[in-house]
Parts: sequence; structure tokens; C-alpha cells
Amino acid sequence: MTDRTHTAAVNGATGAPLWLLAELTYRCPLQCAYCSNPLDFAAVKEELATEEWLDVLAQARAMGAVQMGFSGGEPLVRQDLETLVAEARRLGFYTNLITSGLGLDEARIAALHAAGLDHIQISLQASDPDVAAAVAGSPKAHARKLAMARAVKAAGYPMVLNVVLHRHNIDELDAIIALCDELGADAVELANCQMYGWAQLNREGLLPSREQLETAEATTARWRERLAAQGRDMRLLFVVPDYYNDRPKACMGGWGAIFMTVVPDGAVLPCHSARILPMTFPNVRERPLREIWYDSEAFNRYRGDGWMREPCRRCDERHRDVGGCRCQAYLLTGDAAATDPVCSLSPEHHLIEAARHQAEAGERSVTGLTPRNVHESRVFCRR
Ligand code: SF4
Ligand code: SF4
Repeated sequence: MTDRTHTAAVNGATGAPLWLLAELTYRCPLQCAYCSNPLDFAAVKEELATEEWLDVLAQARAMGAVQMGFSGGEPLVRQDLETLVAEARRLGFYTNLITSGLGLDEARIAALHAAGLDHIQISLQASDPDVAAAVAGSPKAHARKLAMARAVKAAGYPMVLNVVLHRHNIDELDAIIALCDELGADAVELANCQMYGWAQLNREGLLPSREQLETAEATTARWRERLAAQGRDMRLLFVVPDYYNDRPKACMGGWGAIFMTVVPDGAVLPCHSARILPMTFPNVRERPLREIWYDSEAFNRYRGDGWMREPCRRCDERHRDVGGCRCQAYLLTGDAAATDPVCSLSPEHHLIEAARHQAEAGERSVTGLTPRNVHESRVFCRR
């Protein structure tokens, strides 16, 4: 949380958004079993047109947003991506592309470079091609990702690789970091799978055991020492899964504090997972972004601390973690205003302990995970 946001949260004043995440599409050639897209993404038929996205960018920048992420789905599916990047850059945004690497080639890298794209983050599923193929649902994607990671680096971009860790790839972390080193990464996000969207559906098959997690942390520490001894500047960011913490994260720096996501059909959310909550989110096709951010019921519902119940309401830590994640609270308890069960002070913390316990004894086969694809999404929509 920045000083500015923290001050705003404490004073109850609403600051401007700093971050805009543009989820351009839910289309994606891969089927990652941990995808954070909503389970019912197949019900979203319409995407904002190029002109509408350009208007969203202009509105967000006029409000003060400075950082932009283009994601999805796979944002490269959109043939107007270069147009959007160029406009975002012209408006003064720092621009990030969050991609699987599928749909990228040398010509597109050059076009994005010419459009002014600042930063590319490519995701890898594993170092073992078989595990990568099983998790992404594609036997060819892994080799393509490696080729594109090399091409991105060759084009002069600072390269960030993102690896979502779970019980099927966390034991190969040594080889994963070695692969990232070989690819010339400048930074690696070792992001333990957080349990939203498809990951929540597949939680039993994804959550690592505590022993796996501790081994992975030790491996990361060893690599940090090795890289430092070699004078190699490759930053390793290890993100611990919420389920192994006793305090929740300050989700998005607070609801409606610094972050907004615009999803493919124009709905505006305080975070990319919030669509699962039982509430209606405003849409840029119906209201100006400024009005949505400052005045909408959805963006005000969990701002500040007035909405909190016990034990958060009188807790000294409530300005540090803002009571945790509303999506996680809802997914686990059915009540979006509940204390995030990750907190050991939550009366529902036993749900987290039960999931950890299940992970100790869990099935380790990668088969049995439900892939994120249109067919499975339609099955979910019919329920
Ligand atoms: S997590 Fe996988 S399936 Fe989901 S959008 Fe990213 S690449 Fe596609
Ligand atoms: S009780 Fe609420 S405010 Fe206190 S530490 Fe737990 S989640 Fe944070």
C-alpha cells in the first residue's frame, strides 16, 4: 500500500485509481486448471470494441491512473492490441503485457515495441514439458513459450517470467529457476497458486503440502545466494499461498483504493476476481469511469473499514490488511463481508486448516484437474 493510499484509507477519503487492468478478452488457446478467469466466462459473448477500449484508457488516464496491464484470457488474441498499446503509451501510461506467449512472433514483438510497450510478462507452466502440457492442456505450448521468451529478450525487453506454482510443479522448482536463468530472465515471479476462479474449483488437486512449500522456499533462498555469488541480477519473487499464512494479504491495497479492472464486456471490478461476488458491477457502456469509481454502490461497498464485522471491526491490524480478500471470504463462507478465513482470528479459520490437512494427504496426479475451457465453462453455466 502506498503512503497516499494508506492515508486515504485511514481518512476515509477516496483517492484516484493508480492501476488499470484491461482484461481484453476471455478467449485463450490454453486451458490452465488454475486460471483466475470466472468459471462462467463462456456466458460473456461480447467484447468491447477498439473505440470503446480507447475511451476507457482516456478516461482512466484523466482520472490519474498511471500503470496499465493488458491481460485476458490471452490479450494477443485481440488484433487491435498494438493500437491500444500505442494509445496507452501516448496518454502516458506505463504499459505491461501479461501473456502466455501464444500468439506472439517476432513480427508482433517488433510491432508492440514500435507501439511503445514497456514491459512483457510471459507465463511458464513448468520446466518439464509433460507437466506443462498437462496443466496448460496443450502439448505444443511449452516449446512455443520458450522460443518467445528468447525472442522477447532478444528484442531488448526486460523479461519477467511468471510461474504459477502448485503441487504438480513445485517439486521441480530447482529446474524451473535454472530454466529461467538460462532464458536470461531479469525477474521471476514464483507465484504460488491463489484459490480463485478455476483454481478454487481445482483446489484439492493444486494446493501443495506444507513440506512441499518449505522445500520450495529453501530452494529459492539457495538460488538467491547462488545468483548473488555469480553477480547475476535475476530477481526471484516468491509469493506464498494465502492458505499457508495466518494473516490475510491487504487485497488490492483495499477495495476500490488503487486498482480497477475492466473486463471484456465492459464491467468494472475492484479486482479481477470480484465477478464471482453476488452483486452487480457497473459497466463502462452505461456510466463514466469516474462516476463508477467514486460513486457506484459496488465500489463503495467495501471501501474503508465501516463495513467490517467482528473480529475485524475492533482489530488493531485492520488498516494493514483491510480485513483480507472479499472474494476469498465469499468463496469459503458464502458471506462477502466476513473476515477472510485465512486470518487465524477468523471464526472460520478451520476451513483453511482443513484444506491444509487435505493437502497433506492429497492425490498428486495431474490428471483429474478440470481444464479451463469453453466446454467446462458451459457445463458450469448450466448448473
Ligand atoms: S491462466 Fe492459462 S487459460 Fe487462463 S488466461 Fe492465462 S494462459 Fe489462458
Ligand atoms: S481480524 Fe480482521 S483486521 Fe484483524 S488481522 Fe484478522 S483479518 Fe486482519
